[in-house]
Amino acid sequence: MIRADLECDLKKRGWYSGDAHLHTTYSDGKQTVEEIGKSLREANLNWAVLTDHNTLKGKEEWLNGKRDEFIPIMGEEITTKFGHFNGINIKEFINPQTSEGLKDIKRIFEEIHSQGGLVQINHPLTKGLSYQGWEVSDYDLLEIWNGLTAPNLPGMGNYEAKLKWFDILNSGKRLAATANSDTHDVLLPQYVGNLIYAPLKITLKKIPHAWKNFVRENIASIQLWARRGIGIGMPRTYLYLPKLTLQNILIALKRGNSFLSNGPLLLINVNGKIPGERIDLQTKEKLILRVKLCSFQSINLIKIIKDGLVIDRCKLPQGTKKFELSLELKEQGPGWLVVECYGSYPFYAITNPVYFD
Ligand SMILES: [Zn+2]
Ligand SMILES: [Zn+2]
Repeated sequence: MIRADLECDLKKRGWYSGDAHLHTTYSDGKQTVEEIGKSLREANLNWAVLTDHNTLKGKEEWLNGKRDEFIPIMGEEITTKFGHFNGINIKEFINPQTSEGLKDIKRIFEEIHSQGGLVQINHPLTKGLSYQGWEVSDYDLLEIWNGLTAPNLPGMGNYEAKLKWFDILNSGKRLAATANSDTHDVLLPQYVGNLIYAPLKITLKKIPHAWKNFVRENIASIQLWARRGIGIGMPRTYLYLPKLTLQNILIALKRGNSFLSNGPLLLINVNGKIPGERIDLQTKEKLILRVKLCSFQSINLIKIIKDGLVIDRCKLPQGTKKFELSLELKEQGPGWLVVECYGSYPFYAITNPVYFD
């Protein structure tokens, strides 16, 4: 799907895409570990985390799928009444039991970290699956874009998750965001198949009540998204890596040396610092933001966001697929900056923050 890869050859520049949320027949997924591995490699992903619900059964098979250009990472989607979160790069099964409430969440996070893993909070504001354990604050990653819901439509879980992320960043925590497919079926993701193939009346019967009005009002754009924007590795997280290794992947995930996308390739830097890096304002240098965009689909809008507010927007001529921009930032205070780009729905990408202090 992400054919711009070929044109822009991101790998040559050190950018490797992956997916940190996937299911197989070992929990509620429809494909085997081997089939998921094949699908990921076909879709040109370079790393992925297997995260079946509360089990590590697929571990050996999964880790055997390592190739020169593909790093499998073992994980567990720890599924609790407080919500779902991934232990990424864990070695041993972690008990998801939460009879002692937040104390258990704390215990689970500690176990993940002591095994050399990262904690990713999954689909934190998706209706019916929202996360309730925020008081335990030493999580490492926030999944602001979970494949099953249309990205970036106000009212939908992913949009709300993005706003939540902005709030957390504004509170001073440096937190990297991720985009993952949460694939359960590479052939026909739940709900989405209905949105494409069934008459609206039947579709409305099958989807959660809270979404009915939203779907009724936005059916045309949702169908468009469902046709174009689903599948394994959709969306995905692109990491900047000096070399494709497990350790480098974990470091880049945690720091946020990355951007999230379902197509457009969006590279930015401020004075040479990429997402996840920091700029020292003491040096009083001019701040120059450089944006490089390459996309198989045309892109019509770029937004520059500082501390959660849009400080600049750039409308692009119709049909723009390649674009470069260089501008001086007038907003010079401490904080963080991300860049978003929008194509015709659903195409979208967002960077992790460059920090200023
Ligand atoms: Zn989940
Ligand atoms: Zn999941």
